[in-house]
Amino acid sequence: MCMTDLILHPKRDFSVLRRHPWIFSGAVAKVDGTPAQGDSVRVLSSDGTVLGYGAYSPTSQIRVRMWTFDPSAVVDEGFVADRIGRAVGARAVFLAEGATNAFRLVNAEADGVPGLVADRYGEWIVCQFTAAGTERWKREIVAALQCFSPCRGVYERSDVDVREHEGLPPVTGVLAGEPPPERIEIVENGCRYLVDVREGHKTGFYLDQRDNRNLVKRYANGCDVLNAFSYTGGFGIAAVAAAAASVTHVDLSAPSLELAKTNTGLNTCHVEESSFIQGNVFEVLRKFRDEGRSFDLVILDPPKFAESKGSLMKAARGYKDINLLGIKLLRPGGLLATFSCSGLMTPALFHKVVADAAVDAKRDIQVTTRLQQAEDHPEGLCFPEGLYLKGLLCRAW
Ligand code: SAH
Repeated sequence: MCMTDLILHPKRDFSVLRRHPWIFSGAVAKVDGTPAQGDSVRVLSSDGTVLGYGAYSPTSQIRVRMWTFDPSAVVDEGFVADRIGRAVGARAVFLAEGATNAFRLVNAEADGVPGLVADRYGEWIVCQFTAAGTERWKREIVAALQCFSPCRGVYERSDVDVREHEGLPPVTGVLAGEPPPERIEIVENGCRYLVDVREGHKTGFYLDQRDNRNLVKRYANGCDVLNAFSYTGGFGIAAVAAAAASVTHVDLSAPSLELAKTNTGLNTCHVEESSFIQGNVFEVLRKFRDEGRSFDLVILDPPKFAESKGSLMKAARGYKDINLLGIKLLRPGGLLATFSCSGLMTPALFHKVVADAAVDAKRDIQVTTRLQQAEDHPEGLCFPEGLYLKGLLCRAW
């Protein structure tokens, strides 16, 4: 592959020197040559200092994603394999502990592989390629995943909108080995879940909430639990495993609730009452409030409300509404586990939004634990965008 130099504008090397992996198109002064989509380019500051190597995305605002900040590195098959190997190696603890067989093997930028998510579900690996660079090295990445994390098959779920920015079409299908079954059964901290890796959200399951589901499990015994935005059961199943008194799941999606029902059946070992309500959480919670219903534990795990900076304030109002309703349904001493997975919503803003809801609800609320995405979804220290999931476990008096 012939190497192209990409030179930055004066004073636009600051973020690269701070080891931030994204170079926006406005920072690029000159490209010496015509690199193809996903080709590696050598990145130089305006004074000619070599800053490292990155993958070129000609159609994206994020023109380059840095592979390395080492001027003497060579981005080749061995380099890519090494990145996969070190990411997979860092997850060895999950296999060793044995309580969980579904976890993220590679978390994109934080693992030095911008544009690649690889999740392990039992004996299968499910990947998402979201940038030109990883698309270019797909074959090598799949081979490295199979080598470092032997599996029965590798399945692709690159059916995400962000690929459009990269000029890449959506694709799904088997990349290697056997096709996955319709549902893969996974174990997470002793709870069993069926995962639909072909049609499910993300790569099939919200692995990022694992630790938070486990935390909820500690408190759920004997509780009446409201699992709002339940998806396939997630937090509610963890509550079932902890012998909650009752679990009420609410979600818009009928197929997700169907799977939540099946997952409940897989885990029920105590007499508890589970109900599955298909509806809009905003409306269902309002109805519960009007009916005077109450719960000991309320989980609010909505989808991303803020997609752009422009929609952040509207999203904040949505988060406040939902938290206000959730708080009103809590019995005195009850717990609220509330989340935002909008990257644009900072932990500080989220904290303020929940506090505003507490003020309106006229309740005294303490934060017992600040929450975030699980440890297999690390955040690059120089890439704050990688921290997207935040939450609070609160007690309301
Ligand atoms: N807590 C879950 C993941 C939640 S994902 C887990 O641990 O697995 C968010 C869910 O919210 C999706 O299943 C989506 O169908 C649902 N959803 C989105 N908007 C909704 C709304 N207004 N009312 C009810 N459910 C909604």
